[in-house]
Amino acid sequence: MFMPLPLQDGFDNAGLQIGLTDAEVAGVLLCLDVTESVVDEAVASGCNLIVSHHPLIFSPLKRITGSGYVERCILKALQNGIAIYSAHTNIDNAPGGVNYRIAEKLGLKNVRILVPKEDMLYKLVVYVPQSHAEHIRETLFSAGCGEIGNYGSCSFNIDGVGTFKANEGCNPYCGNVGEIHNENEVRVETVMPAYIKNRVITALLKAHPYEEPAYDIFQLKNSWNSVGAGVIGELPVAVEELDFLKDVKEKFNVGSLRHTSPLGHKVKRVALCGGAGGSFAGAALASGADVYITGEARYHDLFNYDGKMLMAIIGHYESEQFTMDIFKEHINKAFPELKIMKTTVDTNPVQYL
Ligand SMILES: [Zn+2]
Repeated sequence: MFMPLPLQDGFDNAGLQIGLTDAEVAGVLLCLDVTESVVDEAVASGCNLIVSHHPLIFSPLKRITGSGYVERCILKALQNGIAIYSAHTNIDNAPGGVNYRIAEKLGLKNVRILVPKEDMLYKLVVYVPQSHAEHIRETLFSAGCGEIGNYGSCSFNIDGVGTFKANEGCNPYCGNVGEIHNENEVRVETVMPAYIKNRVITALLKAHPYEEPAYDIFQLKNSWNSVGAGVIGELPVAVEELDFLKDVKEKFNVGSLRHTSPLGHKVKRVALCGGAGGSFAGAALASGADVYITGEARYHDLFNYDGKMLMAIIGHYESEQFTMDIFKEHINKAFPELKIMKTTVDTNPVQYL
């Protein structure tokens, strides 16, 4: 599954914002931000689902009286039977998500995550009779285990002997009640994201031949290198700093590109993070980036990198504008018959003179 909700950051509120999960979708309107004009457009175009990047409901609401644009959007959506779903940091952090698309637009190669997620992986160890090892491995892989980077079906297997004594009332798959039994088993080790644990264990228990399968789950301290904030990659050919910035300005239609002082060397390694990614500039510098591009950064942050790394601020909306294309591609692939439209409303609240 692409961009599952558990990939979102702790502060976020991605997911279904408004609506019922069992409502039938007539059409989908895609946007970065939900505004009243976007809800109007959904109504006029017969789309009863809006998929946005930024969650409409981000801060908790105590009342919905129409006093601000968020409340008015909620009221309008409810009155018109429009559901709203937001995919925010879960698509920022996903492999192939927002930042991969920005990297693709810039022609970067060897793209990898800049700040990988921590504490999201488990190791699963299960002991299974040799005759069932293959079946159990396949069950675990199809439930989502064993993915490391671009590799799938990853496991490690050790032959050994399991012992057990089935007590009165047991119905053992092998061995006899009241006797200690030795069984040639395989210790199958694999990895999984923490958030699929329940699904994996349910599938494992269903597929395992024993009444009481033995398994262990360990929390890993490994970083999850294919999931996280920002990306880094290399240009095929090094280019002059200002030429690179002009290219970024053009490709992202940036009204005003702000940057730190050029360092006087060419740009080859590029780090980037769409949206408000100022806090990841340190990781970009540590990764040896020649330039770091993000949508927003604080004025004082720039002092830390001036003279050390070229840093460019291209605008929050501008940096994430291609997110709608990712939504469109994935929804279209899953539901080829479904009407999907990108909003025609310019929701960027920032204008340039
Ligand atoms: Zn954003």
